[in-house]
Amino acid sequence: MAEELRAAIIQDEESKRVLMLGWMDEEALALTRSSGLVHFFSRSRQKLWQKGETSGNVLHVTDVMLDCDEDAVLVSVHAEGPTCHDGSTSCFTPWLWRTILRRQSENEEGSYVASQLSAGVAQNARKVGEEAVELAVAALSEDDERVVSEAADLWFHSLLLLRSRGLDPAMVDDELRRRAR
Ligand SMILES: [Zn+2]
Repeated sequence: MAEELRAAIIQDEESKRVLMLGWMDEEALALTRSSGLVHFFSRSRQKLWQKGETSGNVLHVTDVMLDCDEDAVLVSVHAEGPTCHDGSTSCFTPWLWRTILRRQSENEEGSYVASQLSAGVAQNARKVGEEAVELAVAALSEDDERVVSEAADLWFHSLLLLRSRGLDPAMVDDELRRRAR
């Protein structure tokens, strides 16, 4: 490699969430600074690219900081749309959400996730209602194990409902953070 690449950590300015990690050569870093849009150097394609150049999900730069020995760069951004190619807000996504996305895209026969998601919002909303009642009943009359089990069902179906509405758990997390201020 002719030129050293810097690891570029992309962080959402408002939520402070780490959105992704990419690599920048000098040209990508200079373009990121001058254009105000994040650019990377693709190691697999060996070329410069602008994040969002095909998806439209660009990253607007709000700050660029080099680390102590200048081999890594921290870029604060305002993200336009989801950052990850799988449609998630961040590439660093909780395993349960990633599993849901994977099951949906694989769409294998017999997959509960795939069948629930293809059934649509009304079906998912109905399940959330059922599971909420089951959790409430368990909390009042059943043992801890049952309460945990019903809470897991409600949690899981809430994620399915978000997905069926095209939303992301990171949005819920952001909302809770705003309230906690
Ligand atoms: Zn990703």
